[in-house]
Amino acid sequence: MSASPNAPASAAPPAGSAAWTVASIRRALESRKVSSRELTKDFYARIERENPRLNAFLALSPERAYSQADAIDARISRGEPLPPLAGVPAALKDVLNTRGTETTAGSRILKGYVPPYDATAIERLDRAGAIFLGKTNCDEFAMGSSNENSAFGPVHNPVALDRVPGGSSGGSAAAVAAGLAVVALGTDTGGSIRQPGALCGVPGMMPTYGRVSRYGLIAFASSLDRIGPFARTVEDVARVLEVIAGRDPLDATSADHPVPSYSAGLDASVEGLRLGIPAEYFAEGLDPAIRQKIEAGIGLLKKLGCVPTPIAMPHTAYAIPTYYLIATAEASSNLARFDGVRYGLRVPGATLGEMYRKTRGAGFGAEVKRRIMLGTYALSAGYYDAFYLKAQKVRTLIKGDFDRVFQQVDLILTPTSPVTAFRLGERTEDPLAMYLADIYTVTGSLAGVTGISLPCGKVCGTLPVGLQVIGPHFEEGRVLRLAHAFETAGGFEI
Ligand code: GLN
Repeated sequence: MSASPNAPASAAPPAGSAAWTVASIRRALESRKVSSRELTKDFYARIERENPRLNAFLALSPERAYSQADAIDARISRGEPLPPLAGVPAALKDVLNTRGTETTAGSRILKGYVPPYDATAIERLDRAGAIFLGKTNCDEFAMGSSNENSAFGPVHNPVALDRVPGGSSGGSAAAVAAGLAVVALGTDTGGSIRQPGALCGVPGMMPTYGRVSRYGLIAFASSLDRIGPFARTVEDVARVLEVIAGRDPLDATSADHPVPSYSAGLDASVEGLRLGIPAEYFAEGLDPAIRQKIEAGIGLLKKLGCVPTPIAMPHTAYAIPTYYLIATAEASSNLARFDGVRYGLRVPGATLGEMYRKTRGAGFGAEVKRRIMLGTYALSAGYYDAFYLKAQKVRTLIKGDFDRVFQQVDLILTPTSPVTAFRLGERTEDPLAMYLADIYTVTGSLAGVTGISLPCGKVCGTLPVGLQVIGPHFEEGRVLRLAHAFETAGGFEI
């Protein structure tokens, strides 16, 4: 606990659990310093202690976790080689279907739903030897920026328990930041990995659209949704990404593009990399204390031989309205399947129509209903051209900004969020203020490119700042290389 009675309480991880990485776990297992079962038990003990005040996990899956751990221990005793993520305790956002474990998407409408299958990303983690500790809290159907839209109560930020962890993957970010898991999966539709990563002080990566299969992800906005990793180090982000990435016949939008070994490329030089700094991301609304940290981060990269270059991205101002038209339109269509017939909650009614109405009325929360109404309106005959079609055209212009800029520079650097973690309840009454939390992340989502948020110092000694590094389509390797150089040079603690 905090030394000063006035400082906000925090749940910073003890040195022991924070020290675990994919590589150090592997070494400890191979030298038999610890067994996978013992390590799993330690993590559950810590979850039991910390989760009541964090609310990061919604469901735990000890049966599956211990059987995965025992399988790893059996391989070790037989002297067999270990898979890439052997024994690594992982937390999984609750929008990812997980065989045999309740999966709710943070919604009452899916309370009690137990999927019969694993999402592809989950299955790949399983095959790679990861240990599934449980499912993490999130905004309902991944709609939100603070985790306060979860039907099961908000997550508390481990760095300051009276503050939000960001959203919508707040549970995954908080679990890693508090040392309750070594790696986690989140999803990012408009910023939901990068922004909670920034607010909790851990790296979080959005891969290129199509890089990771979406099969088994409960859809929010299908043309924007991505699955990606959180970890405490860039190397671990790379190690998880190289496991989950790649073509999947079960998702026609997954790309048939080779998956390099991201972890093997981390140490290559960053000298001479041209870093675009877009003026539009440093304008009004950016907390000056964040600006100062980001500028220090850019200064550090300059010392490493990178070349910061001013760039213009003139369509940035249209990104928030464009995103909220497209995302809500797709959500209204995707969420039509939750009708009381196929999954989860059913509230009986005298007629079929009444059953639908009552189920959806009781099952969905206020923000989800707001978005279904907005999206249905934007798609309705007579308004489609004015709203949805127009938004698609502006999306193309925003993507054009990225295409043009990536002819001149190798990567783009921006703040991840205009503000640090705000207080729980501070923005819940004003959906528009909440939507602005994503002002620097929705652009990359609309353009389909890849981005990572990296810790870049703290404001007032406690509140983490996030530096966003954006790369062209399928250039995750370049993004991670710069991120690793930044981390190695001390950028996380700048
Ligand atoms: N906060 C944004 C929204 O509410 C982004 C959510 C996300 O990326 N899933 O839509």
